[in-house]
Amino acid sequence: QPTPTINLPTPDIKILKKKLNGYVGFANLPKQWHRRSVKEGFNFNLLVVGETGLGKSTLINTLFNKDLYSSSSSTVINGNESPKRRDNVEIKSIQTTIEENGVKLHLNIIDTPGFADQINNEDSWIPIVDEINSRFDSYLEFENRIDRTNSNNSYFDERIHALLYFIEPTGHSLKPLDIEFLLKVHKKVNIIPIIAKSDTLIEDEILEFKQRILKDIELNQIEIFKPKIHNQDQDQDHDDKNFIQNLIDNIPFAIVGSTNQIQTIDGRIVRGRQYPWGIIEVDNSDHNDFIKLRDLLIRNFLIELKEKTSKELYENYRTNKLIKLGIIQDDSVFREFDPNLKQQEEKALHEIKLQKLEADMKQIFQQKVSEKEKKLQKSEAELFARHKEVKEKLLKQIKQLEEKKKQLENQRLNPQSNIESQPQKTRKGFLR
Ligand code: GDP
Repeated sequence: QPTPTINLPTPDIKILKKKLNGYVGFANLPKQWHRRSVKEGFNFNLLVVGETGLGKSTLINTLFNKDLYSSSSSTVINGNESPKRRDNVEIKSIQTTIEENGVKLHLNIIDTPGFADQINNEDSWIPIVDEINSRFDSYLEFENRIDRTNSNNSYFDERIHALLYFIEPTGHSLKPLDIEFLLKVHKKVNIIPIIAKSDTLIEDEILEFKQRILKDIELNQIEIFKPKIHNQDQDQDHDDKNFIQNLIDNIPFAIVGSTNQIQTIDGRIVRGRQYPWGIIEVDNSDHNDFIKLRDLLIRNFLIELKEKTSKELYENYRTNKLIKLGIIQDDSVFREFDPNLKQQEEKALHEIKLQKLEADMKQIFQQKVSEKEKKLQKSEAELFARHKEVKEKLLKQIKQLEEKKKQLENQRLNPQSNIESQPQKTRKGFLR
């Protein structure tokens, strides 16, 4: 918890340059997984949701020790880099590969700028749920094209493995939007709730805030990710169980993020945030729960998060989808070896694909029609303007001619006055 080091006065504290190539901790992964995957690397898809300004990009950079939000090594798809408030929720994907002790982590951060930023946030969850579903659908489609029993296929996996949900450090409780959103996604993703910018609250406030959040989670029956303690498992000794229990007891983690390196009065260089009264250290368990988050997300339970996604959340989605399509599922083993069932699935999936294609084509057609209509409206307006212009010109000409006619008639009726009023010319026609 943020028990800030009271280092008054602090004249020597200065921010050194950012250090973004330190140890992240996923080299521990081979212990979590079997050896063969080490060569190919691990992929991990992390969804990040929370209001603009809650420190999402800072925390991701802090967690992975990399300037992911502005680095050229990352691929930004579908998005815009600026953190300003938006009119709608965007889905922005940042991909990078981090290597540590010969272990590669293919990381995909899926950010959702614009969430909770609108005046009316009622539909903020829709694009995010659509994104989660469409990633499940792509996997479903992929899985039906390949041999499900081949574990080499694991590298194609765009499913969301964890959701970091940023809670505003209000000190009160969850907001209605938090509850609504979490309920929309809790059956689809491993939710890891975190209290953002926890250095803005004092320790007692954090403890109370955590209790209120947990109460809201319980009352609303929101499922969040908790690592499992296996009482019968020989691999988990007493210390492991204590370690896991300690993680569970501290959820939702109260986090501070920063990639700035600061020198403390006692000469240590730490990542932290500097205040007139002292320094909040990121990597210090007495100051905040960053280390616990890193232990849960990266160092110890990354594989468990992936397995839960695959074996529970995805299977649940898949079964529901196939049941909706009229294909009754018994269990996954039966499904894999029953050719009739598999054929039915493939047929149903093919139909979904066709329906999607048809819907896409309809949408494109409608778009084209509306573009054409707009073009026609534009050219109609142009034509109308041109017509108006020509008409005005003609009217002007008519007016001029009428005036001339009037003048000529005047001349004809009153030649004398006309001669007087005209400039006098010499015989040769020159003006005098
Ligand atoms: P995002 O819009 O959620 O990605 O937020 P940013 O990461 O861009 O952070 C917004 C502002 O909050 C920046 O000025 C950060 O320096 C600051 N910030 C980020 N993390 C923390 C934190 O843990 N504590 C405090 N006090 N400020 C933070």
